[in-house]
Amino acid sequence: MRILSGGPEEAAAPSGLRHGVAGVGVSTLAGQWYCELKVDLKYRHPEISVVSPAMARGTAGHGALAADAVPMTPEELEVRVRLGEDVFLQESRFTAPIHEATVVGVPDLIHLQGRDARLVLEFKFSKRDDLFIDRFIQAQTYGLLLEGSGYGMEQTVCVIGVLPSRDQLRQERTLDQVLERCAELRERIARSPRHVFSLCSRGESGTLHAFRFDSRTAKNHLRWALDYWKERREAVATRHASKCRVCPFNAARVCSKARAAPDDRFRVLPAILDGRPTLEVKWQEGP
Ligand code: SF4
Repeated sequence: MRILSGGPEEAAAPSGLRHGVAGVGVSTLAGQWYCELKVDLKYRHPEISVVSPAMARGTAGHGALAADAVPMTPEELEVRVRLGEDVFLQESRFTAPIHEATVVGVPDLIHLQGRDARLVLEFKFSKRDDLFIDRFIQAQTYGLLLEGSGYGMEQTVCVIGVLPSRDQLRQERTLDQVLERCAELRERIARSPRHVFSLCSRGESGTLHAFRFDSRTAKNHLRWALDYWKERREAVATRHASKCRVCPFNAARVCSKARAAPDDRFRVLPAILDGRPTLEVKWQEGP
């Protein structure tokens, strides 16, 4: 496994995008389907610092994935691509313009075969193994970044791998098993008629949702998301009260559109972070 060192530079400011950002991250774009207002409040309230075991699980799990990856320079990658070699890249940064906005993303794992992208694999650490729309959009958007970086996407399959915890990914052979299952799903999708768009496989190494990369569908979805960043419309709040109950911005009392009271497992405390006054919103799991 390899990890790309260096990578493309940030877009030059000013970008003309909301909140003065130089580019928009793929996971941020995907988060707009969960609750766009939550994304908006995160930028408007930098003084709110969110601490939760679920976030720690996700961050540590992603870190564990690339721990053994060997660095590779963009120049070495280009040589291997030109030679038509198989390259598995973990947690490597890609950027491309989508609807005239700079989008930046770090897919968990991609498989390149020469100039062709074969696989985009994204992990989620959760007990809920559904293919939620934000998970679908995230993987498709990584596909758009590869397309924008010049890779062939005719045969690309995206896979969302859902594991209950990061510990599972640390177990020996789990990643190998996931990749073997991804290869099987890829073959099945490739052999299927075009209308078979996605497949789901549940196994010891987690649940895998595999689907074809579809540039047009992905771009159509992102047009809506990027209109927010181009200030063509305001942020949209979720209609699901269940999301508001577990929302830290609701707990910090900065959301005027909340549909339910915050869960009483939240603790909101004033704190000092890097010398700045912050409001720490902490989720306390379990008894
Ligand atoms: S409280 Fe509800 S509407 Fe407000 S940001 Fe949180 S999830 Fe969105």
